[in-house]
Amino acid sequence: MNHIMSLPVTEVKGVGEETAKQMAGMNVHTVQDLIEHFPFRYEDYQLKDLQDTKHDERVTVVGVVQSEPSIRYYGKKKNRLSVRLLVNQILITVTFFNRAFLKKYFQIGQEVTVTGKWDQHRMTIAGSECYPGRVEKEQTIVPVYSVSGKLTSKSLKKYIYQAMQQYGEDIPEVLPESFLEKYKLPTKREAIYRLHYPSKDEATKHARRRMVYEEFLFFQLKMQAYRKINREQSVGVPLMLDRNKVRDFVSGLPFPLTGAQKRVVKDILHDIESDYRMNRLLQGDVGSGKTIVAAVCMYAVVQAGKQAALMVPTEILAEQHVSSLKPLLEPFGIEVELLSGSVKGKKRRERLERLESGEMHIAVGTHALIQEDVIFHDLGLVITDEQHRFGVEQRRVLRDKGEHPDVLFMTATPIPRTLAISVFGDMDVSIIDEMPAGRKVIETYWAKHDMLDRVLGFIEKELQAGRQAYVICPLIEESESLDVQNAIDVHAILQQHYGGKFKVGLMHGRLHPKEKDEVMEAFSENSTQILVSTTVVEVGVNVPNATVMVIYDAERFGLAQLHQLRGRVGRGEAQSYCILLADPKSEVGKERMRIMTETNDGFVLSERDLELRGPGDFFGSKQSGLPNFKVADVVHDYRALEVARQDAAELVNKADFFENPVYSYFRKHLEESGVFAGEKLD
Ligand code: ADP
Ligand code: MG
Repeated sequence: MNHIMSLPVTEVKGVGEETAKQMAGMNVHTVQDLIEHFPFRYEDYQLKDLQDTKHDERVTVVGVVQSEPSIRYYGKKKNRLSVRLLVNQILITVTFFNRAFLKKYFQIGQEVTVTGKWDQHRMTIAGSECYPGRVEKEQTIVPVYSVSGKLTSKSLKKYIYQAMQQYGEDIPEVLPESFLEKYKLPTKREAIYRLHYPSKDEATKHARRRMVYEEFLFFQLKMQAYRKINREQSVGVPLMLDRNKVRDFVSGLPFPLTGAQKRVVKDILHDIESDYRMNRLLQGDVGSGKTIVAAVCMYAVVQAGKQAALMVPTEILAEQHVSSLKPLLEPFGIEVELLSGSVKGKKRRERLERLESGEMHIAVGTHALIQEDVIFHDLGLVITDEQHRFGVEQRRVLRDKGEHPDVLFMTATPIPRTLAISVFGDMDVSIIDEMPAGRKVIETYWAKHDMLDRVLGFIEKELQAGRQAYVICPLIEESESLDVQNAIDVHAILQQHYGGKFKVGLMHGRLHPKEKDEVMEAFSENSTQILVSTTVVEVGVNVPNATVMVIYDAERFGLAQLHQLRGRVGRGEAQSYCILLADPKSEVGKERMRIMTETNDGFVLSERDLELRGPGDFFGSKQSGLPNFKVADVVHDYRALEVARQDAAELVNKADFFENPVYSYFRKHLEESGVFAGEKLD
């Protein structure tokens, strides 16, 4: 930014030390910060019909008071005023919080003008402003600014206007002319002006569009530059793969690969053969067949003389992978072994030796794989399954185990595309968007707890048909004992209910690894028909004969987790069912249950989840890795994000990107954000 823009706010007339201090509290330090402090919404004083107003939209109406205002007091300072108004034949309620003094405006039979947020379901306006009589303002759209400390939206507005007077002409353009033309964007100066002085035409919309694009473009430039640098600097080891052998291996599999599986295998093998280091995220919905993709890639790498590691979050999953990989790979003389917490003593020492000498080709394990004493002979490929369960640090340690191994992260928690390209913008992403043929859609029902008897009857019918059922009890993070207790209780209830007819197994995190094995095996073999469990079976577990998934207290789980759990059934030919037992209290909780019953598609689900939770919460608060955008919103502006990503990728790969004066603002931005300093995103 040029230096006029970086002058301190005190250069703005009327802004003294005290005001500057208040502004600093909102992270506004420079002239630029101030003029780019945009309104967070606009108040619309244009009178409007309620019929034309959407739910949650802000509106200004004129109404006739129908009732004495009633005021309820809560504690010392809080109160709520509500009053009935007749607005064009529609009787509505208007509420004001902590504005009891407005009472005087509401006299039966009088007209008032009220502005606020329209709640269509409750026929209520949550009022923010109110004037006696019919008031039609000249300026109908007014910006409202977020403020903190002693500043008010009004005083801030004054300072911003003043700053615009003094410096508005100096706002530099940071986008090349050709970009403005291509997308028909206003200049930065026009855009900023329009956001502070909104108009009713489309101009304000275009102004916002311009700022959104700019923010996304600069953000994506950084990601794409990282990606480019990462590729250029990464001394990957190109492997010579024997494509014929790989083809033979694939045609010897018990089933043909789906088109999507073939495509991602191709992507991955291409990366492995290249001289840059693979850094790829593989997303595929639960049951889409990621394991077999991993098997093919590991096979290829081992054929080329390297070792592979497969890291998973739970012991159960590790064992299951070993038992499904062995029969596929051992016939080719490939040694696959488990290296996890349960492998101890002599056995462990032996396996470690074989791994170090290179006799063992593939190690499958939990985080035990990344302990210091685990040494590979020549690690060429690292795959993590259910990647979202690993922290960034764990991923890094694993990657550093070999000489620049290629890395593949697999996840069944579909990350909404917007987040994937923002948070993992420096990675390549492959998606398996096709299910193996013949899969039936899992039917999902939401039942209240008082319908438990019917649910039990339903389970019984399935069991009689020779099927099996999971019954999941919630995991309560704060109190593991409580969670185990739940499962134990439910186990007892079911045992009593089904008497001698069916056997009920019990699985939870407190069991000894060996006991877990036994319980899991009993269920796999159908010597127990029902498995009561905590969420330890959430990821990856594969028992195709199980067709019923019952989830107790389903409202306690997030959408992603519910979907994961549901994915434990529907793995065989038979029709499968998922029953959510839940009495959610909140609207969001109810909405989650509804979404579950409406869609089986993990990607749709994750988009809805993102809408419900917002990007900050999606990954857990701080990990989203998203910058604080001033105007842009990754959820609502995802199309712009996509465009910006493509443009950024194209830019950093332009031959003259580093010389052409047209791109000087871009280069400066990258320099300032430390991209060239060897700093790396992980
Ligand atoms: P996930 O992607 O959830 O890890 P899995 O790899 O466990 O899924 O695969 C789920 C099931 O689908 C397994 O039983 C697997 O053998 C089977 N499967 C995978 N790919 C195919 C395919 N192309 N055709 C038929 N069945 C497949
Ligand atoms: Mg899996």
